[in-house]
Amino acid sequence: MKLVLATRNLGKVRELSDMLSQQCSIEVLSMRDFPEAPDVVEDGETYQDNAKKKAVDIAKYVGVLALADDSGLEIDALGGAPGVHSARYAGSDASDADRIAKLLAATRNVPDDERTARFKCAVAVAEPNGRADVVMGVCDGKIIREPRGNQGFGYDPVFVPHGYDKTFAELGEQIKNHISHRAKAFRMALKLIESTYMPMQ
Ligand code: IMP
Repeated sequence: MKLVLATRNLGKVRELSDMLSQQCSIEVLSMRDFPEAPDVVEDGETYQDNAKKKAVDIAKYVGVLALADDSGLEIDALGGAPGVHSARYAGSDASDADRIAKLLAATRNVPDDERTARFKCAVAVAEPNGRADVVMGVCDGKIIREPRGNQGFGYDPVFVPHGYDKTFAELGEQIKNHISHRAKAFRMALKLIESTYMPMQ
């Protein structure tokens, strides 16, 4: 069975391909195999909406089962911001460093015991006929006051997952890819594919 990963992000393709390699009856394709495919605009109100839109559009375009994700960081003291707008929090041309600087400024006066936050990830699986399912993964933690570590991407240097004293950027790929919001959602999606979308063998 063929499965296309609806992302051009090499890190996500690698992480997912690793997990899917245990399932040898799935042939994994990515958007790198379809460079002419249109970009899907992420204008939904929720992670679920965005992931579903990407998966359905790409499943229809490519003609095989598609998997897409959408994620973000929610900070309780900011009422859940930046949330679904995490990628554009400091404007569309901003860097990871700009987004982190904005977030640290916005939380400067938040006391240590109120700095709770969580990453969320929605993963959608869709068929070319438009049928789709969405699963969610969550990773709870807190936001620190200064960036630490140089691995990972995005908000990793300021997020310490619950049960650890290092940031995602200090913990490294192996641990992060085991406990992250994305890893949890991907694992659920793989189970869903095996139980619901794989043809009987
Ligand atoms: P998207 O799911 O690729 O649209 O990502 C949304 C944004 O959320 C990213 O650009 C990052 O800023 C942030 N984000 C999502 N997951 C992570 C993560 O695992 N670490 C750090 N930042 C993340």
